[in-house]
Amino acid sequence: RAKNLGKNRYEIFSSSMRSQVLALSQLENDLRRAIDRQEFQLFYQPIVSLDTQNLVGLEALVRWHHPERGLILPSEFVPMAEEAGLIIPLGGWVLAQACRQMQLWQQHYSLATDLQLNVNISSRQFSQPNFVNDIHAVLEDTNLPCHRLKLEITEGVLMDHASDVADKLDAIKTLGIKLGIDDFGTGYSSLNYLNAFPVDTLKIDRSFVGRMSSEEGFEIVRTIVNLAHNLHMDVVAEGVELEEQAEELTQMNCEYAQGYLFSEPTDTVGMEDFLLNYCN
Ligand code: C2E
Ligand code: MG
Ligand code: MG
Ligand code: MG
Repeated sequence: RAKNLGKNRYEIFSSSMRSQVLALSQLENDLRRAIDRQEFQLFYQPIVSLDTQNLVGLEALVRWHHPERGLILPSEFVPMAEEAGLIIPLGGWVLAQACRQMQLWQQHYSLATDLQLNVNISSRQFSQPNFVNDIHAVLEDTNLPCHRLKLEITEGVLMDHASDVADKLDAIKTLGIKLGIDDFGTGYSSLNYLNAFPVDTLKIDRSFVGRMSSEEGFEIVRTIVNLAHNLHMDVVAEGVELEEQAEELTQMNCEYAQGYLFSEPTDTVGMEDFLLNYCN
């Protein structure tokens, strides 16, 4: 009897695993066609100065409108796109689209003239041999000045032992493109690495900001802010949802914040509304 039960359990488990695998490979197939079918859309989220409340930048965040499943967030498809190599065409589309949009906004919205555009770059994209040239070509095509663009890379990119990482980062710096470390604190970067590369900005992962109400959480955030300043970087706190967090971060001299307290990510129409109505 016990044996039978065990067997049934095994079958239930394996059939649900099987359907999961099928669903995933179906999604990967859909992803392959999604660029051509124009199913991706960019949302933008404001980054503000904590000191002045001024809008200083926008982060481009990709969304996928799946024909049957509706809106899918990047946590569900970016890792898959990385694994399948599809992040290369997708990332290229994101960059071109975001630069084109920002260039238009800088022309037509006075609030946008001095804004920074943040674009997420996956390590797989960064490790492409032509990465820097490709980025430069997009900037030339779209007429967005190099210093308006900030690439958000993760700690993993710095820790990659590929020999050309330093050269690429230097080339990016020489072009005047800015560099930020995204989700700082969740990876495994050693402080040596952080210091060795020309990084402009640390973005404190929102998991740390979310724990600021505890004493240890507060101290961790303060330590990261001080670390960044000692290394001559500025700091963006991610996931700021509460007035109290913004106040504490301001007191720590954290320069910038991003989060639902200021604005959720919005589509271009919502962003244009924001650009018209927000007062710097
Ligand atoms: P990220 O770059 O750290 O982006 C911030 C994420 O936090 C966004 O999630 C944003 O919607 C969310 N967020 C912002 N403020 C708050 C807040 O106050 N509270 C909470 N709970 N969440 C907040 P999203 O858009 O789902 O993106 C998730 C991740 O997917 C991004 O994390 C980034 O790593 C990746 N991603 C998004 N777009 C791209 C892209 O174009 N290329 C690549 N390679 N990765 C992307
Ligand atoms: Mg980011
Ligand atoms: Mg981030
Ligand atoms: Mg994050």
